Amino acid sequence: MAALLELNNVTKTYSRGLVSRSSTTALSNVSLNLDESEPTILTVAGESGSGKTTLAMLLLGFINPTSGQIRYKGQDINQLRGEDRLTFRREVQAVFQDPFAVFNPFYTVDHLLSVPIERFKMAKSKNEAREKMEEALTAVGLRPEDTLGRFPHQLSGGQRQRINVARALLLRPRLLIADEPVSMVDASLRANILETLRTLQRNYGVSIIYITHDLTTAFHISKSIIVLYRGGVMEAGDVDTVIKNPQHPYTRLLIDSIPWPDLNRRWGETEIKARESELTSKGTGCKFLGRCPFAMEICQTPPPLFQLSAHQAASCFLHAKSPEIEPERLSELLPA
Ligand code: SF4
Repeated sequence: MAALLELNNVTKTYSRGLVSRSSTTALSNVSLNLDESEPTILTVAGESGSGKTTLAMLLLGFINPTSGQIRYKGQDINQLRGEDRLTFRREVQAVFQDPFAVFNPFYTVDHLLSVPIERFKMAKSKNEAREKMEEALTAVGLRPEDTLGRFPHQLSGGQRQRINVARALLLRPRLLIADEPVSMVDASLRANILETLRTLQRNYGVSIIYITHDLTTAFHISKSIIVLYRGGVMEAGDVDTVIKNPQHPYTRLLIDSIPWPDLNRRWGETEIKARESELTSKGTGCKFLGRCPFAMEICQTPPPLFQLSAHQAASCFLHAKSPEIEPERLSELLPA
């Protein structure tokens, strides 16, 4: 099985200050693997500051890891040059949070879509370019006759975000990095855009890394999930198992804060403990120690990943009786 994308122990540290230099680790020792032959949707979830946007920037090759490697089809993405780099730029596309940011108010949708077609020489004639635009718009559920020729202010936020997806799709990507793609879109349109992403995975063989703080959308769209906190993997596995039966105190905290529409469960029934730990973190142990209601003395050392079942692992000493699993083997627990 060839890997489409491989992350091996990727760490990203930002340094600041000229005299007294200090550093912040935005992402710590993350490994994952996506198989080329089995397109999938993997969620990377966490609050702001969890490292998920750093991960997106790394995956797109916008920044370099401080240590570790990111390989796309076997090649280190930071070493790609010439034709290989162009292929990577075409095959790995992104859809970002803000559906308005990509649009220049003075250009029509046609212009936005025709630029990547020209840049990557995707069509031999204007007619072929037009056909490709219409095909991509139809694939994301938009009617080309209602969309082409229009200016951004004539479109809703949901339409603009679907045009962004269509723009990515035009380039026949193999991997889509979707960074909070529905967080600025009306709730009524979210399901529509998420369904569009699923269609890309199913019908067009595009693997998607879906980055979000919203576990409800993660549950609906993805097969597997990695939960990040302060740059470290807290829990990972099959999305159904992790969300219905979370085993890391941080994942539980995230899930308890979701207002699920469940008539048998009253809002506020479960206390959310974003707490003060009785143990003071020395900065070397569990990243969640300062907020964890279960913190123990051993948590002053970094917890390894413990494998809890075939498709679930958590980095928490509450599961110290379970076997440890090397971070490099995390992908074995993530269903495609
Ligand atoms: Fe809490 Fe300790 Fe588990 Fe960290 S390792 S989540 S501090 S119990």
